[in-house]
Amino acid sequence: MSDAELVLRSTRVITPEGTRAATVAVARGTITAVLPYDAPVPDGARLEDLGDHVLLPGLVDTHVHVNDPGRTEWEGFWTATRAAAAGGITTLVDMPLNSLPPTTTVDHLRIKQEVAAAKAHIDVGFWGGALPDNVKDLRPLHEAGVYGFKAFLSPSGVDEFPHLDQEQLARSLAEIAGFGGLLIVHAEDPHHLDAAPQQGGPKYAHFLASRPRDAEDTAIAALIAQAKRLHARVHILHLSSSDALPLIAAAREEGVRVTVETCPHYLTLTAEEVPDGASEFKCCPPIREAANQDLLWQALADGVIDCVVTDHSPSTADLKTDDFATAWGGISGLQLSLAAVWTEARGRGHGLEDVVRWMSTRTSELVGLNRKGAIEAGRDADFAVLAPDETFTVDPAALQHRNRVTAYAGRTLSGVVKSTWLRGERIYADGEFTDPRGHLLTRTP
Ligand SMILES: [Zn+2]
Repeated sequence: MSDAELVLRSTRVITPEGTRAATVAVARGTITAVLPYDAPVPDGARLEDLGDHVLLPGLVDTHVHVNDPGRTEWEGFWTATRAAAAGGITTLVDMPLNSLPPTTTVDHLRIKQEVAAAKAHIDVGFWGGALPDNVKDLRPLHEAGVYGFKAFLSPSGVDEFPHLDQEQLARSLAEIAGFGGLLIVHAEDPHHLDAAPQQGGPKYAHFLASRPRDAEDTAIAALIAQAKRLHARVHILHLSSSDALPLIAAAREEGVRVTVETCPHYLTLTAEEVPDGASEFKCCPPIREAANQDLLWQALADGVIDCVVTDHSPSTADLKTDDFATAWGGISGLQLSLAAVWTEARGRGHGLEDVVRWMSTRTSELVGLNRKGAIEAGRDADFAVLAPDETFTVDPAALQHRNRVTAYAGRTLSGVVKSTWLRGERIYADGEFTDPRGHLLTRTP
């Protein structure tokens, strides 16, 4: 560690081998060594003594809708990446839709990269989109460095991003499998949604009935069948229905290349507690019952669910009306995801190591970010410093994302992010941010 510029010392460093007292040496933005706690500080290196605060790898959130350019009144790179930094997230991967243009051609990707470059407080990568008519654009996007392709199997909520029917799914998936890419899927079956009662109005029970579990289960079964037939790699986005877990587990046993994520809101909020008219709780698929939530936690513990991502998908407050049928569907979770998940996880007997695995290590693996996701030599010096026992009550006024609508208002959460570090630079501490220092990331072949 003789060339270290910075050393961070904590009694609790979360490493791939477990939590221990350690000194982490950093040079030129990279972790160079994880040393014993009492290792001497080399000449010229700055010591950052974190005491008993936990040093964990910066979180990697692979499911974020930044909406910039085009719907910047909903969200933008400046505000989203500040919210992320304040929440201990050091890398996000931006979804291809809700921005205008959507990320469905290389030209559109370039537009988004240009917009993001000057505003990114954390590292930012991009997903591409698979639409019914852009199969020819998929390989060029892959070569331009997107991490994979998002598709919907039911209407997405925005007209410019139409969904795929089964035949179009097969065509896109065959193309993507041909170059070894990844398809990530919003899996709800449109026919099951059409067949469900669509009553509308402010009652959450009516909204829940309009997005039944079997819509998810059916779409997931069809996706798994296609992935199996084409030997393709697929990822199920924002799993809510626990009924789909056995078929996912069985597919993996069989060797189908399928991974799964769920989100903080499915893990920490329940249908039983959503007040009628409170569309800040609306997302698709919906937040389901407490018994369903218990099974999602079990699946995380068992490894059937791989990871936890925010699906941060804001809009302006006026689109969050009290009619669940027409209100914008999306929950803004960037800044609170770590605290929300940790609060519930610890109550269920999980450790911070588990949270790190779900929200940093496995999300990094999903997109092949092999410099992120762990505190070990050779990785980027991206960290969150957390006071895990300190609590706070969620005040919407303290949130950094553009529209301060939140489903977590008034909740008391454990886990205060004291500072966030990106490649060895402290980018956030005590409510203060540096100028943007994020890099734009592209997939490494
Ligand atoms: Zn999403």
